[in-house]
Amino acid sequence: MIPDTTDSLKTAGDEGSSPAVAVCADPVRAGLKGRCPRCGQGRLFAGFLKVRPECEACGLDFSTIQTGDGPASFIMQIAGFVVGFSALFVEIKYHPPMWLHLIVWLPLVVALSLALMRPGRGLMIGLQYRNQR
Ligand SMILES: [Zn+2]
Repeated sequence: MIPDTTDSLKTAGDEGSSPAVAVCADPVRAGLKGRCPRCGQGRLFAGFLKVRPECEACGLDFSTIQTGDGPASFIMQIAGFVVGFSALFVEIKYHPPMWLHLIVWLPLVVALSLALMRPGRGLMIGLQYRNQR
């Protein structure tokens, strides 16, 4: 659960004349882009997959985010489906030698998994924020 401290920031700000924190219209899209699901401005990740302790723009606490293995399991299924069925299609249509399959599909499944990992984790964080605030 991601505690939303927008209310406390509003009351601590300028007495409700304007919100202290700009609220992002689409937290899921912001998560996909690797941005804070509340403000859409601050970066979500400190490294490739390491989530920052808090948003650098609005101060939202990221330390309580628990995505677990959710992104990895979805990405394994997506990458496995795409690469598995592509390899099956190519084998049935063109009958390439097995070494060619290994050269093409093994790096592709690794690249696809790595490419989807960060947006997948951002998506899970954005969904978690949208559905639990
Ligand atoms: Zn933020």
